[in-house]
Amino acid sequence: MGSSRSSHYLALKQIAKVSNSAFSLRKICNSIAKTTAKAMGANGCRVSLLDPQKEYLLTVGTHGLSDLYLRKGPLDAHKSLPEVLDGKVVVIPDATKDERVQHPKIAETQRVCSILGAPILEREEVIGEIRVYTREPHQFSEADKSFLTSVANISAVLLERAELHQLLEKGYRVNEEQAKLVQMPQLPTTSLRPTEFAHPSEEEFARLLDFYRIEWLYEPRSFPLRWKGGEIAEMFTPDFYLPELDLYVELTTLKQNLITEKNRKLRQLKELYPEIKIKLLSKGDFHKLLAKYGYSPLGEAKIEGVSRILYSHSQIQRRIRTLAKRISHDYAGQRLVMVGILKGVVCFLADLMQHLSLPVTVDFMAISYYGGDDGQVVKITKDLDSSITGQHVLMIEDIVDTGMTLNYVLGHLLAHNPASLRVCTLLDKGARRLTNVPLDYIGFEIPDEFVVGYGLDYKGEYRNLPFIGILRAELIKEDKL
Ligand code: 5GP
Repeated sequence: MGSSRSSHYLALKQIAKVSNSAFSLRKICNSIAKTTAKAMGANGCRVSLLDPQKEYLLTVGTHGLSDLYLRKGPLDAHKSLPEVLDGKVVVIPDATKDERVQHPKIAETQRVCSILGAPILEREEVIGEIRVYTREPHQFSEADKSFLTSVANISAVLLERAELHQLLEKGYRVNEEQAKLVQMPQLPTTSLRPTEFAHPSEEEFARLLDFYRIEWLYEPRSFPLRWKGGEIAEMFTPDFYLPELDLYVELTTLKQNLITEKNRKLRQLKELYPEIKIKLLSKGDFHKLLAKYGYSPLGEAKIEGVSRILYSHSQIQRRIRTLAKRISHDYAGQRLVMVGILKGVVCFLADLMQHLSLPVTVDFMAISYYGGDDGQVVKITKDLDSSITGQHVLMIEDIVDTGMTLNYVLGHLLAHNPASLRVCTLLDKGARRLTNVPLDYIGFEIPDEFVVGYGLDYKGEYRNLPFIGILRAELIKEDKL
């Protein structure tokens, strides 16, 4: 076992070439994994991307890893080498004994011993990771670390370009055929777009899960079912994965002949992957479930007025945990004053502060708007209770739309000379921005729609919804928003 600078150089040349080829993304990522493993004298390599909520790692390319090791399912990003996802290069000398490894038992049976992991960074944000594995104990050199970091950098450019292609050519959606073509689920993105469901019944099912506060991932994994001449000839992508239950769910709301076909695939999947738990829900079962919990068979929203759920309660909570981690890290060793504007921010601020591992104080302001023909004027109706002079202030916002409110409030806060002033917003409606306000922490970037729930209101109502949903267009047609 061993590697040299010249093998690193040749590998980078090969990776640069394949990255610029016309192969599918999956094929390119597999090739990168293979070249990287070989150049480092390692036995295996895995390229993974974070899902949109940055909670799970989805495999996009592998080499040399056994089926069993790959079949262990999506990795929980927080449990699986979290330091890599904090942007660090990590060395695990012995995976079977290291508590940072999520599946040490599998590592042992699969003879994975040493691991080197590097983050894939898109600008400064971690979007995935690349890892190499060896069967025997191995000392990774500084040159190895620097090589893997370069491979991660090339992968970042490649993945960004692939995403751009998808956006341009496929109108924000990867349909079933296209997903098969690249043999991977929807590409995670840094813009944290809401899930695009291929079928309305899938969205109904997602709502039912949200109602129960059961976490779900949409089409996170494809299982090869048949191979022909070394190539995958047939794949099966279950609709949902429920991480807490470690269960895949496939919905069958299609015609009877298609149900038979799905049953065949499911039988095959169970034979090939006996450790995978999967449930097939027929149309009847599904509607019975929906009816039992208050949804009508036609899928009308249980909550009148909301046309679509954009982010479920569990998605919001997961995102908040990630934001809180970043804030706690950035302000380590300091005291923080969180400032919120009443009332929309109450849910977000309350949940966020519970996850901060810092000494924190909280203060609120209230504002009102005076509409005129020449635009709206903001007026402060309740100022801060305590002085913020010389303090580190984090302004917490529920939503930034045109940015006018935030711009005004930031000006007001700056006049009190805080030591620092940053902004954290749960929602960013960038398409409507009129003034350039700095946003340091963003929960979700949302489309230009009027949203309610989780603190956000329409005429004072809807704040109590545990999710963020889009208000029915008919309700706001009359109003100027
Ligand atoms: P901005 O000054 O950025 O245009 O507006 C910010 C304020 O407008 C927010 O604090 C919020 O009160 C309101 N707002 C903007 N967009 C929405 C939305 O989609 N839903 C709700 N409920 N309020 C919004």
